[in-house]
Amino acid sequence: KTAYDIEYGLVGSEMFIRDRAHLGDLRNRKVKHMAEDTRTSGSEHAVYLALGSNVGDRKRHLQCALRALEKKGARIVLKSDLYSSKPYGYEDQGDFYNMAVGVLTSLPPFSLLQTLKEVERECGRNPTFRWGPREIDIDIIFFGNLVLSDVELTVPHPDFRERDFVLRPLMDIGRMIVDPLTEKTVEELYGLLTTDTCVNLGSLVAEEGVSD
Ligand code: AMP
Repeated sequence: KTAYDIEYGLVGSEMFIRDRAHLGDLRNRKVKHMAEDTRTSGSEHAVYLALGSNVGDRKRHLQCALRALEKKGARIVLKSDLYSSKPYGYEDQGDFYNMAVGVLTSLPPFSLLQTLKEVERECGRNPTFRWGPREIDIDIIFFGNLVLSDVELTVPHPDFRERDFVLRPLMDIGRMIVDPLTEKTVEELYGLLTTDTCVNLGSLVAEEGVSD
């Protein structure tokens, strides 16, 4: 199917139309398939985000991100415990702190992505290289049951199925979520991992390490 079919045929949802306005001309973009409508009751989307930090005050960066997300229209309704994990890809760097959250938001996918980038900047993210150390990283793992492949945004997140530091926190808040691409649950995907470097650090206390 061409992007044109998807724009006008497969995806007639208000959510997508609004997002298309945000995007500009979608016809030049590679969109494989987009679900009809990812909204829950009302106009909010159920979205799962993975957060990580391995530079500086890692708890503080995560706290900053949670607070900024709430302020920018992503209501946090589920929060995993905090985990530490071994770095992935480029191993000569500090351990990560990771967590996952379930949010309700009326922001469409690309607007949410922009918002996450703003939050990363506000919470101290400095430019780095792929898989390099980072003050704060926020990834969209699931956006409802949306399946989207675009140069800027791939949902579900393309690498989450191999990542202990995403799947372990997700197990806390969504073990029954079905990955719309593989149709496996988070629990099944977690069971397929060959390594799990995550250590549970308990819950991230709301005000810890954060000053106003
Ligand atoms: P990162 O280095 O993890 O911050 O990601 C770099 C880029 O990945 C971002 O600028 C996004 O455009 C892109 N990206 C693609 N898919 C996703 C996703 N599911 N969640 C977050 N970023 C994504």
